[in-house]
Amino acid sequence: MKDEGSDLYTIKSYVFPQSLEEAYELLTKSPRNNLILGGCCWLKMGSRRIQTAIDLTRLGLDEIRAADGWVEIGANVSLRRLETDPILKRRFGGILGKSVSSIVGVQFRNCATVGGSVFSRFGFSDVTCALLALEATVVLHHAGELPLADFMALPIRCDDILVKVRIPDDGRTAAYESMRRSSTDFPLLAAAVSRRGDAWTVSVGARPAMACRSQAAERALEAGQGAAAAGDAAAAELTFGSNLRGSAAYRQELARVLVRRAAETCMEGGNGQ
Ligand SMILES: Cc1cc2nc3c(=O)[nH]c(=O)nc-3n(C[C@H](O)[C@H](O)[C@H](O)COP(=O)(O)OP(=O)(O)OC[C@H]3O[C@@H](n4cnc5c(N)ncnc54)[C@H](O)[C@@H]3O)c2cc1C
Repeated sequence: MKDEGSDLYTIKSYVFPQSLEEAYELLTKSPRNNLILGGCCWLKMGSRRIQTAIDLTRLGLDEIRAADGWVEIGANVSLRRLETDPILKRRFGGILGKSVSSIVGVQFRNCATVGGSVFSRFGFSDVTCALLALEATVVLHHAGELPLADFMALPIRCDDILVKVRIPDDGRTAAYESMRRSSTDFPLLAAAVSRRGDAWTVSVGARPAMACRSQAAERALEAGQGAAAAGDAAAAELTFGSNLRGSAAYRQELARVLVRRAAETCMEGGNGQ
């Protein structure tokens, strides 16, 4: 994949496994040297020597389906599909599409995958912020199914395969907000809110640490205190940090505003619902 000495990555052996078990066996033979490939959009930014690159594209993980009360999104579904798929357009206020629509550009989003985005647990991730508010679970080949929130709390170890993401198909409305310094930059802050009857879920991402739920904001909404109180509660409860995009104090104010806006949108029926 590269010339020695350049700053891309080197792959010695490129494999299309015939099954997830075969992929898992290859990976766990040497998790430090062997690697699952997503769309390679992040990988190509670094330099790395990969002994065996494991390409999952022949395993049918590029499907989105709604069945038995769940929406399932395969690991190889592209970020662009989150914007265009009719199943997702009709559900959750379309927030999965909205959350990724500022990521770089359409060509990039045609390559980057849900699996690569969720597995990497980037602090800036729009995708995980939206999925957290939808109470998604992740299905790992070896470890099985666990709530996304629990998965995000685990140390990042490249010794399992993310097979799919599952979202309860429970008719909830949802809304997503992010603030960026320019239209396709990383988010300065992101907020997602969902509502199912009287139950609310609030997540805040790009703090710049990983997205997390704000239980204080959820309690405020469930007690009927309104969207502004939820914004205040999230700003008071969560921790924020500084980086070159913005200070902790600025992010705290953004959390107040973006949570309020997303909650207001949910009260009106959610983005586009
Ligand atoms: C310039 C740039 C700007 C970006 N801006 C944003 C942004 O604003 N918001 C945002 O949310 N994201 C952003 N991203 C991240 C992007 O959306 C993708 O999340 C990222 O590129 C990884 O997706 P990928 O499919 O290309 O994964 P890859 O680069 O192929 O893989 C990334 C990592 O995930 C692992 N992996 C991939 N698939 C699996 C799997 N199924 N199971 C286990 N491990 C797996 C790989 O082994 C690797 O360690 C940006 C990325 C770049 C390069």
